[in-house]
Amino acid sequence: MKRVGVIGGGQLAWMMGSAATKLGVELIVQTPSMNDPAVSIAQDTVLAKIDDAHATEVLAQKSDVITFENEFVNLEALSLLENQGICFRPKLDALKPLLDKYHQRCYLQELGLPVPQFFALEHQENLLSKIDDLGFPLVLKSRRHGYDGQGTFIIHDLATLQEKIELDKNTNTAFLIEEFIPFERELAVIAARYVDGEIVIYPVVETQQEQQVCRRVIAPADITPEQAIASEAIARTLLDGLQVVGVFGIELFLTTDGQVLVNEIAPRTHNSGHFSLDACETSQFEQHLRAVCGLSLGNPALKCAGAVMVNLLGYETSHSDYQSQRQQLAAIPQAYVYWYGKTESRPGRKLGHITVLLNNHNQNQAEAIAQTIESIWYPS
Ligand code: ADP
Repeated sequence: MKRVGVIGGGQLAWMMGSAATKLGVELIVQTPSMNDPAVSIAQDTVLAKIDDAHATEVLAQKSDVITFENEFVNLEALSLLENQGICFRPKLDALKPLLDKYHQRCYLQELGLPVPQFFALEHQENLLSKIDDLGFPLVLKSRRHGYDGQGTFIIHDLATLQEKIELDKNTNTAFLIEEFIPFERELAVIAARYVDGEIVIYPVVETQQEQQVCRRVIAPADITPEQAIASEAIARTLLDGLQVVGVFGIELFLTTDGQVLVNEIAPRTHNSGHFSLDACETSQFEQHLRAVCGLSLGNPALKCAGAVMVNLLGYETSHSDYQSQRQQLAAIPQAYVYWYGKTESRPGRKLGHITVLLNNHNQNQAEAIAQTIESIWYPS
């Protein structure tokens, strides 16, 4: 398998570029705009929306295997292609229980994995008694197409909840309501599963979100060995349960009493694994290509004591490429700056990231470096 068709041409596909060159793999992307980051590293581009299955048929003619950097696809339409023998990795069956957050929670529960209490907002008649059980605050989530906190709302009272539901009635949004977890920390783990069932797991990391968007990742997370084992066991159960081939990202909550709960599954490479580009023997992007191309899995271990990754999020609407800030960031010792080449900046948009390698694993040092980066990046 040497020609990989990637559905989606954003930064996740872009970051597969150097691994593809190293492995002698060709990338062909399906993406809606020639300005999308991965167009510059792809051998060929199918210019179309992510959920355009006709375009994916064209992509398949140019590829040996098809994979995803974006899961917002039309699974039903793609199934027809899979039935005709087109090879998807992961298989569409592995995506099926994940694309709707309510189905995802149900699936995780069936696997016996720990999740927050939840219910689908279908019959508003029982709403009051159901939310009585959960109490406020609670979390309202769009069942589909949520990302970077879009579609996730922390709600503090009934009036706000009703207002929000009313507002979204016109758009026909289906919602999930779940228990608010007053977590001690958020964690994430990247894992890869091979065609023969072998699984490799990256070091568990701490992720820090603001307004539901990931700002920083610290690798490895400062947790107990038991908590790391619990996180890895979740990854194993999930990847085996789904019979995945490829990389998955798993977002977790560490509760105040030390329990690990699953928040969300990303059926692809994930922002919480970007540190692996510079800090691990095999990056998550190389790992994914190795898995889907059948090239054997690589070593996920850290090759340094630790790392801190900070997302460079847009904070204004602009066409600037922020040269001077990027130069200052690149001057930080052991820093690796990635700029995704997006043509427009908008508040909250992921424009790039920076990873700084650490010589010893020290939480305070990691936090201090993150603060330095953010004071250079964000206007005061
Ligand atoms: P998205 O798919 O948009 O990334 P998530 O479901 O991952 O949305 O939620 C984004 C963030 O919102 C999480 O990282 C966390 O900080 C917060 N969050 C989500 N669900 C809960 C919850 N049940 N309890 C507390 N915080 C939550």
